[in-house]
Amino acid sequence: MPVPLLDLKAQFATIEGEVRRQIEDVLSSQGFILGPKAQEFEKQIAAYCNVPHAIGVASCSDALLISLMAIDLKPGECVITSAYSFFASCGCVSRLGGRPLFCDISLDTYNLDPGRVEELIATQCELADDGLRHRPTGGRVRALIPVHLYGQCADMTALGAIAQRNRLVVIEDAAQAIGARHQGKPACSFGDLGCLSFFPSKNLGGYGDGGMVTTKSVELADKIGKLRLHGSSPKYFHPYIGLNSRLDALQAAILLAKLPHLDGWNEKRRENAAYYNNALAGVGDLVTPTGVPDSVCVYNQYIVRTPRRDQLLVHLKERGVGAMVYYPWPLHLQECYADLGYRKGDMPAAEQTARENLSLPVYPELTEAQREEVVAAVRSFFE
Ligand SMILES: *Cc1c(COP(=O)(O)O)cnc(C)c1O
Repeated sequence: MPVPLLDLKAQFATIEGEVRRQIEDVLSSQGFILGPKAQEFEKQIAAYCNVPHAIGVASCSDALLISLMAIDLKPGECVITSAYSFFASCGCVSRLGGRPLFCDISLDTYNLDPGRVEELIATQCELADDGLRHRPTGGRVRALIPVHLYGQCADMTALGAIAQRNRLVVIEDAAQAIGARHQGKPACSFGDLGCLSFFPSKNLGGYGDGGMVTTKSVELADKIGKLRLHGSSPKYFHPYIGLNSRLDALQAAILLAKLPHLDGWNEKRRENAAYYNNALAGVGDLVTPTGVPDSVCVYNQYIVRTPRRDQLLVHLKERGVGAMVYYPWPLHLQECYADLGYRKGDMPAAEQTARENLSLPVYPELTEAQREEVVAAVRSFFE
């Protein structure tokens, strides 16, 4: 029995009626950009994330970019972020002429290691009158972008304290973590800004691209609402230079149909993860995810680690089990960043993870038989 890494058809079968009704509404209205569906969805996401404002945009990549535009990141300014994530977490900085300062992750959580962030600041930066400066380039360090990778919140208590001491804006990359919690509070409720993705493979996925910025600040919310419309308000008058980045009414409508199911789906992901944690404990040299106390991980990916990752991947493919490497190469060593001067060995945890990790199927509709098949396939490799 083949087990795919993700099965969107299985999910669609459980919600088809609600989704089609929502789509019908939009077709009848013939309004396709933002509009009442997007407004309603923004309201529901703000409530879900326990923040006062949520602004729909075209993707999480745009949400991150617009967040940095909203704080007016200037060329030469720096942003501290994780050396191990999807490229959007750092690409947004470079797109504005800024400089990402990569920091290594914790091998337990795959998230920014607060101790290493402190070390980076202590060794490479100094706190001047106008805020933190990166000593080698003289650029101001404006922001910290923690990523809640694979659905696990970064340690926002420690990172928030570091940001406050060093006067950094915090932008949460919560693309993989809608519904995740840290000490009882939801992802996107910690930072000055939060960024969500509705890419189809995320925990709350639309049927195309979509994203959202959340914020506690009414000023930032107002500015972001304009930036996504080429910086205009009223129409054809431009206080800012923005871009065209809006949430489609069709995506908002589909996501409105899906949002009531999100907590149940996340719970299923957690059950599947608990099953794997149990069934794969002590199998060969496999490392399963480490639980973080007082936090709720929503497992956008279920990640295992072994030095024999490449062979395990081939074995699983042969047995029909969908597995994938998220991500095979860390950000500080990407070709496009050669001029930043990072070297192999600079971020040992990120580099080890890139060599050793593998994502196993954890999607909510996974059946018991499928879970057993995944475990049997993994076990047979080590036996
Ligand atoms: C998916 C993802 C993004 C980008 O989201 P899009 O909506 O596809 O632009 C950003 N950061 C992380 C960590 C992601 O996983």
